[in-house]
Amino acid sequence: MKLSLLGSTGSIGTQALKVVEGLNQEGSFPVSIEVLAARSNVRLLEQQARAFRPKAAALFDEAAAKDFKDRTRDMDIQVLSGPDGLCEAAAWETADTTLNSVVGMVGLRPTMAAIKAKKKLALANKETLVAGGSLVMEAARENGVDILPVDSEHSAVFQCLQGSPGKGALKRIILTASGGPFFGWEKERLQAVTPQQALRHPNWSMGAKITIDCATMMNKGLEVIEAAWLFGLPAEKIGVVVHRESIVHSMIEYVDNGVMAQLGTPDMCLPIQYALTYPRRLPSPSAPLDLAALGKLTFFEPDLENFPCLGVCIEALKRGGLVPAAANGANEAVVQLFLEGRIGFMDIPRLVKEAADRQPAGAPSQIEEVLEADRAARQWVRKAIGQTE
Ligand code: MG
Repeated sequence: MKLSLLGSTGSIGTQALKVVEGLNQEGSFPVSIEVLAARSNVRLLEQQARAFRPKAAALFDEAAAKDFKDRTRDMDIQVLSGPDGLCEAAAWETADTTLNSVVGMVGLRPTMAAIKAKKKLALANKETLVAGGSLVMEAARENGVDILPVDSEHSAVFQCLQGSPGKGALKRIILTASGGPFFGWEKERLQAVTPQQALRHPNWSMGAKITIDCATMMNKGLEVIEAAWLFGLPAEKIGVVVHRESIVHSMIEYVDNGVMAQLGTPDMCLPIQYALTYPRRLPSPSAPLDLAALGKLTFFEPDLENFPCLGVCIEALKRGGLVPAAANGANEAVVQLFLEGRIGFMDIPRLVKEAADRQPAGAPSQIEEVLEADRAARQWVRKAIGQTE
């Protein structure tokens, strides 16, 4: 496999490189890294470039790209920069597969670029499908491109669906949610949550944005929308159950009430690797699961009252069109404001809901409309908290 890796210095990107090393050591599924792309982490990208010798490296941040170029003068490597550089990396000629693990809406154009260049797409950038799902899936169909889920829940559903007799036999899918660090908390207590508290996730080690999304359960809401697009299902056929241990990564339920689950340790290496090697299964860096050592697994109904973001996303999915794009854009802006200490934890669902409610549902016919709905939602959020640009 010849891989273009977008977001290589992030949590998914660094684990993807660990997976690639393991595959290359094992030998039956060699992977060459053709191009690496990152936002601004020059030092780590340089280390990765020296270790994996890609033909090109892209940095979203222009100043970082200049710095990177200076530091790698001794190397035979092309340096790309800015949003266009990221798209060029996504569609890199010598790559056959693009792994997009960029965080946020910034990933949408590269996703489309990879699809139009007919690359197999391993997708870890959920915002891409949340905001631009209809256009992304349509482009994938038109170009005959497979989209393989990297998100652990969607990978679990995808794994469970192998050997499925067809969509008619499927009753629903059930996404599991850890419930985050504030499971069981009430609104009064949640109001005082600090960014430091919210950044401590009990089971998964991830980037800041997704960790906050897990604490508000916005992440699960985004994943419901992501699942709707990936598996072509209406909101009614996507259930959510809180599962504190993050061992059951998700399930599918057939019309005969048979339920299939995919289990494993909470570790992204397996979903990343399966997206790359599918349909093959090979040894992975993930630790084996010891069920007897765990003893028990617990499940609960999601708490929509104290964690309204999940319900806001389900509503956005039902309304459709550009509403999920607005909810996602607003969320990206409010998470940033929360991390900066400018708003409280319970302002997150309130502002996301209001931004989604304001968005007319009309379906987008091109990417620009998605980007515009995203921009407008962010702008509205900044105005709503009295921040002038
Ligand atoms: Mg997930």
